[in-house]
Amino acid sequence: MARISEARIRRVDGLLAAEYGDRPRGDAEPDVVGALVRTVLSQNTSGANSSQAYRRLREAFPTWEDVLAATDAEVAEAIRPAGLAEIRAPRIRRILAEIRAAHGTVDLSWLRSRTCAESTAYLTGFVGVGAKTAACVVLFALGLPAFPVDTHVLRVAKRLGWVDPLCRAEEAQAVLERCVPDALKYRLHLNLVMHGRRRCRPLRPRCGGCPLRRFCRYDESKGGA
Ligand code: SF4
Repeated sequence: MARISEARIRRVDGLLAAEYGDRPRGDAEPDVVGALVRTVLSQNTSGANSSQAYRRLREAFPTWEDVLAATDAEVAEAIRPAGLAEIRAPRIRRILAEIRAAHGTVDLSWLRSRTCAESTAYLTGFVGVGAKTAACVVLFALGLPAFPVDTHVLRVAKRLGWVDPLCRAEEAQAVLERCVPDALKYRLHLNLVMHGRRRCRPLRPRCGGCPLRRFCRYDESKGGA
């Protein structure tokens, strides 16, 4: 595994904050179950599609009990814009049913009093909730210091030499959760995603003028990821 120093992480964080902003935390998502469902819908699709699917779901079924009372087909129809609706609908309904069976109500606000590790372990116990999905809920809805590694974060982390070139997202997440100081996790995650979208793109990254260039191991002459 590549070496990664805290000093280097702090330097990169500062440079990205200067480029993309300080990213103060907003209010935590009030509905943790909603955050979980929204994140499940966001897997492998665009933000616009998953937002539309979530909005349609809440319009068709205003409460989580309504989703449980509906059929898989009805829920699939509501979330169709997210894609894979026939797989996601029973998954979401199963998650909701398991929460209700375990706690008597479809509510996860009690996770706010748990640690980052406890919340992550609980969430990844659901089918269809992997490390990245759990970390998104923990970071954004619970306000705890997880560090989700999506495709953008992974690509930039590889190019910076923070993780090995063949490292998978889950391994990278474990490394970065350990190495990134808790106080930086929210901002650095958001700014790495922004950097990956705007400049450090999969093909033909815009390396000229990149604030991270002096720290980067990406070889423009060879191209590739
Ligand atoms: S120098 Fe290029 S490859 Fe390296 S972080 Fe910047 S945009 Fe990405």
